[in-house]
Amino acid sequence: MNGNDVLRNITFSCSSVECQLPLPFARGSCISNFPSLMFATCREFSGRLFHLGLNLSCGISFKTSTFHPIAQLSTSHCLFSHHPLLSTSRFPVLRSARVSRNLSDFTHPTALMDLKGVLEVLEQLAPLSLAESWDNVGLLVEPSKPRPIKTILLTNDLTTAVMDEAVAMNCDLIVSYHPPLFRPFKRLLQKDWKQRLAVRAIEGGIAIFSPHTSWDSVEGGVNDWLVGGMGSGKVSVLSQAHSSGPQKHRLEFFCVNDEELNSLLEQLRHIEGSENFQCSALRNESGGQQVNLIFNSLALTAAVQILVSNPHAGRSLNITQVQQPPLLGCGQGRLSVLDEPVSVSTAVQKMKTHLGLPHLRLALGDQQTLDSLVKTVAVCAGSGASVIQGVKADLYITGEMSHHEVLDAVCKGTSVILSDHSNSERGFLAVFKQRLNARLGDTVTVAISQRDQDPLQVV
Ligand SMILES: [Zn+2]
Repeated sequence: MNGNDVLRNITFSCSSVECQLPLPFARGSCISNFPSLMFATCREFSGRLFHLGLNLSCGISFKTSTFHPIAQLSTSHCLFSHHPLLSTSRFPVLRSARVSRNLSDFTHPTALMDLKGVLEVLEQLAPLSLAESWDNVGLLVEPSKPRPIKTILLTNDLTTAVMDEAVAMNCDLIVSYHPPLFRPFKRLLQKDWKQRLAVRAIEGGIAIFSPHTSWDSVEGGVNDWLVGGMGSGKVSVLSQAHSSGPQKHRLEFFCVNDEELNSLLEQLRHIEGSENFQCSALRNESGGQQVNLIFNSLALTAAVQILVSNPHAGRSLNITQVQQPPLLGCGQGRLSVLDEPVSVSTAVQKMKTHLGLPHLRLALGDQQTLDSLVKTVAVCAGSGASVIQGVKADLYITGEMSHHEVLDAVCKGTSVILSDHSNSERGFLAVFKQRLNARLGDTVTVAISQRDQDPLQVV
């Protein structure tokens, strides 16, 4: 079976398709070329891209016109001609064995999704590796008895009221943006409200998942949604996310001739964990070689021991840490240079509409009025001061900042809009619900909590 055979088989019964491609394609032209070439008979599709370390992966979901469930096809070898780093294949090549196996999903239209399947979709929509290191994301409560996931409740915060709602609707999985379990517990007692919630989830067999800062970071996530409230603009990431692959080091050294270099490379190849080391060498006029090796940190010590045993390599050895590649479009906070600058008062109105709030708090920057023009906006959902503080912008938008943080911004002429913490995040649930629905199909009901709200009210 070649790539084209696969394509014909799949497109025959498609009505819509979602494509997930590696991050390098996120801003390339292939996102428009790829699906149209592959799926000419599809009526609609949407694409999102992601990058998992050095492994490029491609997952494609089809919603058939005949069957309710979504069949998922994925491959770890998806090759494109559009990107210089990748292969020369014109179309994505799906590994036939994997495709054949997954195509059988089409014959089980009534199959329900289990927790593992839903978690895979959640991970694809926002990889947990994007979360901050201090965070506590992912599956937080896993029931002992597996059951199909029929109802998912989305909430910003898992409060007692939201848990009541989840139990009443016979919910199987709660996706709580903020992690309800954060600090370690030493016991599970009724006197503490968070411990009570954990016990209720366990007794009710309800799974709990928290995405938190992975949703903030991912392209198209909470922060992109928040800055989108100000209208279109040139958006950049304030705190860039990087690939979470293994740490690597560059080893540079000199060899007097080819024989010496080949001997060293032969020894280096036998180091455990060095399977994928990269080598480049530049020959100088006297026949010597300036060598450049990239090693992962697990193999670094053994590699250095070999190199220092050689007098030429050892004397010239220079080691530097290699920066992980940036994950374009991902990270904390966003800065937007607006396509159409607006007045401060219009900015306030836009954000009230976007967040669905009757009131916001505004601090005008020094020398600014409600009519002053806003050209640049820095945003960070939640408590964003640590990310946006010091950023040069006409306006900051976040959920909460301390009195002194607001004073610092105002002194620099930057106006500040505060919405209260969770009001700057909650609206993204509706966006995420649509994405989840599109991926999970009709067998899963995705609901947004009606009881979830910011604890602070303007009275
Ligand atoms: Zn928050």
